[in-house]
Amino acid sequence: MSQFWSPFVKDLVPYVPGEQPKIADLVKLNTNENPYGPSPKAIAAMQAVIGDELRLYPDPNCDVLKNAIAAYYNVPANYVFVGNGSDEVLAHAFHGLFQHEAPLLFPDISYSFYPVYCGLYGVSFEQIPLDDAFCIRVEDYARENGGIIFPNPNAPTGRLLALDAVEQMCQQSPNSVVLVDEAYIDFGGETAVGLVATYPNLLVCQTLSKSRSLAGSRVGLAIGQPHLIEALERVKNSFNSYPLDRAAIVGAAEAFNDREYFEATCAKVIASREQVVEGLETLGFEVLPSAANFVFARHPKHEGSVLAQGLRERNVIVRHFKAPRIDQFLRITIGTDTQNQALLTALKALV
Ligand code: PMP
Repeated sequence: MSQFWSPFVKDLVPYVPGEQPKIADLVKLNTNENPYGPSPKAIAAMQAVIGDELRLYPDPNCDVLKNAIAAYYNVPANYVFVGNGSDEVLAHAFHGLFQHEAPLLFPDISYSFYPVYCGLYGVSFEQIPLDDAFCIRVEDYARENGGIIFPNPNAPTGRLLALDAVEQMCQQSPNSVVLVDEAYIDFGGETAVGLVATYPNLLVCQTLSKSRSLAGSRVGLAIGQPHLIEALERVKNSFNSYPLDRAAIVGAAEAFNDREYFEATCAKVIASREQVVEGLETLGFEVLPSAANFVFARHPKHEGSVLAQGLRERNVIVRHFKAPRIDQFLRITIGTDTQNQALLTALKALV
């Protein structure tokens, strides 16, 4: 029945998200969710709006949330954009800031949604190989481009690029937008938000799905100078005026206001990550240094796909990518200590 399709739909290659299986008692370490729940204050705020006021549309501008983010990062509120998950924020950036003649540049190993958005919005791109240690080499991006995007820390490697290197990236390409996708920055990196006032071409994107444990609510944000934010607002207001519902707006705002809970849960994930790394290394794994809530690890004697399958048979799911250069690796989300122990026990049996 594809005669009903617009011609370009036939050529789309959609993104495949990590599985969300409906099996009880699964140790789910495959999509980098937070093992701890959202802030109790965020949950209470969301519950408080579930009532009669849902008959009314939410604030299209999400002022309560933008103000909370602006206060947290000490930036003006007109430096802040919010959307339905950072995936949507990224989509608007591809649409509104990256459609140029010169190609968009991003690492050969990075978030696999980037080439999908290029396909959706007709953005030409070039993938720049990471070096042999899976690091971004900033010099390689000093060439003609219509924009640059990379996750920091990178996904799925977990490797962090230092802030002075991010700054160099902005200086090297002053005429194109440099988008730093900081989905995992709160687990050990330093945000580039402090650089946005200096660099008119820098846009920082973040999500509440990871460090603020609101993956089920779908909230993402971008911070940059007002001319970049305006481009995103123009696309957003030509697409969906109300991307965030009432509960999402107040829950996300409270998640930013409740610093104490946020800091305590991030610290816990980071401490658990160090234990997981130690456990994996004891079993003979090579683990890339991670500043994220996941680790990327390979075993010199065991195939990545076989290990992933073996874990699945033991009720533990992790992410395995059948992609060049990384098909020996497993990407393992940091869970609760009980989940991490279950992972290590299963791996011990397998190796
Ligand atoms: N960027 C990166 C690097 C990610 O790994 C993810 C999560 N899949 C996202 C963005 C999107 O996150 P969300 O849409 O949940 O905000």
